[in-house]
Amino acid sequence: MIIQEGRPDHRPGQPLNVPVILASNFRAGPPSIEGSGREYSRDDGTPAWEALEDIVGRLEDGSAVLFSSGMAAIAAVLDLLPLGATVVTPVDCYSGVRALLSDGDAIGRWKLRTVDMTRPDTVKDMLSEADLLWLETPSNPLLDLVDIRDLATAARGLGVAVAVDNTFATPLLQNPLALGADFVVHSATKFIGGHSDLLLGIAVCKEPAQRELLIRRREVAGATPGALECFLALRGIRTMSVRLVQSQDNAAELARRLSEHPAVARVRYPGLPTHPGHDIAAAQMNGFGGVLSFELAEAATADAVCAAVRIIHSATSLGGVESTIERRAKLPGQEHVPPGLLRLSVGCEHIEDLWRDLLEALPAANIATAGEHNIALRA
Ligand SMILES: *Cc1c(COP(=O)(O)O)cnc(C)c1O
Repeated sequence: MIIQEGRPDHRPGQPLNVPVILASNFRAGPPSIEGSGREYSRDDGTPAWEALEDIVGRLEDGSAVLFSSGMAAIAAVLDLLPLGATVVTPVDCYSGVRALLSDGDAIGRWKLRTVDMTRPDTVKDMLSEADLLWLETPSNPLLDLVDIRDLATAARGLGVAVAVDNTFATPLLQNPLALGADFVVHSATKFIGGHSDLLLGIAVCKEPAQRELLIRRREVAGATPGALECFLALRGIRTMSVRLVQSQDNAAELARRLSEHPAVARVRYPGLPTHPGHDIAAAQMNGFGGVLSFELAEAATADAVCAAVRIIHSATSLGGVESTIERRAKLPGQEHVPPGLLRLSVGCEHIEDLWRDLLEALPAANIATAGEHNIALRA
């Protein structure tokens, strides 16, 4: 479906892909003529938006609305809240979402209640006074897992809307609407685009009326996707399933090897049986994803690893074919993150290239042990 859908008509002479249409305005005409009714792209969209919305909407079994970035999609969903609404939010979530939520709280746009989402009973206690429950699972960067169905059921009983940031899982590994959520958001900048070359976001909802409201937010606030970004994201999503298989196979193997490395205090990857959310992930996801985090004793050691890697990129962001590593505690608003925690977005490189890169970058005192490990692997 991802490869088939969102293409021009199968008539001879038509291109296989939706062409890049660089147009803000379109010639006016009677609505009976094919393609008419589209006058101004901020209001009426472009063929490339529609193709991507169609594909992601089908994958999530809802209606998708494209935005200029993940943050724009998230801001549009939050904008549906009435003034002064109460939002229950996770301690661990994407730093930009944390900043947006805190700013809104500071100006009285909404009231925040921040909670450790790995304690479902505490979350449920907070729902009686809430309007929206914001979830992110697996979370960025601690890879916390939330049982979406459990919390969505509790929220529904109290009339609380549920939104899930599904960026880490992608629409292929997890479908929150099917588990009871009302909204799903994606930073398509990450795995959907997949090549670290664009910014794009998607909000997905169940109800057609909500879709109209989201489109209205996009129209009046103007957070519209660019033509080239859409073209690239459409091209990216065609290969998402093969990229994801390779990324998550690599991530699972690196998680296993890193957890045996003496310099590594802890590995957070939902695929590890020792991960506290492993059972939840196994039940609600179709795979464990391509992102892991691991902890070194100190911030300085973690910074040294970032400086030493040569194949893995020392860079922010995630979800590309190329692996990236970052010490997240250095970002503002991430005080809850252990100082020596490195988030590793595992790309599609050869597993042994990635492992050699990590082994050489990890603290030198452990090279001897690491060497033995290597020999054991070759045997
Ligand atoms: C990157 C990211 C976002 C924000 O998306 P942008 O496309 O950068 O605006 C939101 N949520 C998560 C989990 C992310 O990783």
